[in-house]
Amino acid sequence: MSRADSRGILFDLDGTLVDSLPDIIDSFLYAFPANGLQAPTYAQVRALIGLPLDIMYAEFAPQHVPALCASYREHYPLNFHRNSRPYPGVLELLHTLRERGYLLAVATTKKSPMARRFVDAMGLGTVLHHVQGTDDFPHKPAPDVLLRALAALGTQGLWMVGDTSLDLRAGKAAGLRTYGVTWGTHPVEELIRETPDELQPDLNRLLEHLPPLS
Ligand SMILES: [Mg+2]
Repeated sequence: MSRADSRGILFDLDGTLVDSLPDIIDSFLYAFPANGLQAPTYAQVRALIGLPLDIMYAEFAPQHVPALCASYREHYPLNFHRNSRPYPGVLELLHTLRERGYLLAVATTKKSPMARRFVDAMGLGTVLHHVQGTDDFPHKPAPDVLLRALAALGTQGLWMVGDTSLDLRAGKAAGLRTYGVTWGTHPVEELIRETPDELQPDLNRLLEHLPPLS
């Protein structure tokens, strides 16, 4: 594939395209009393967002991971859209990049069926070319979910956009340039340590990097 065939732009989903943390954390916390356990604090949970669910629960109650995951998976699909919404400007950005000829995919740690459902509910389904979840292969910071997204797009990648150090490390491991956004889960200091190519409070620089393809 030549350089001219590199048209792939990858986005993390939660905390990057969509402000979804309150609904995720609510469902995460719900599982504790549902299983007769004391819940951790909101801040303790927030610090772990971006990791797979079972790893997050293992931090707090390693003996109860399967039951907690089951409670979450019961609660979240009924409540995932209560407070979640795309961040301002996201839909417009995706439309513009698509019009410019780029191929756009989500690369998320959510499982694919839930990720697809969520993207559709947020009104982003028609503007993305592909939604790639992490289905039984290594999660970010491993590059697998990004490489699968690019394979599905049938192109090479240019940028990975994300809100956590996991996204930025996965982007680098996949050979992409990395764009950190500062409105998501991880503190800016943590993102700086990953030395992304861009670290921004908005997506304007991404548009500057990506002019219309001829
Ligand atoms: Mg994220």
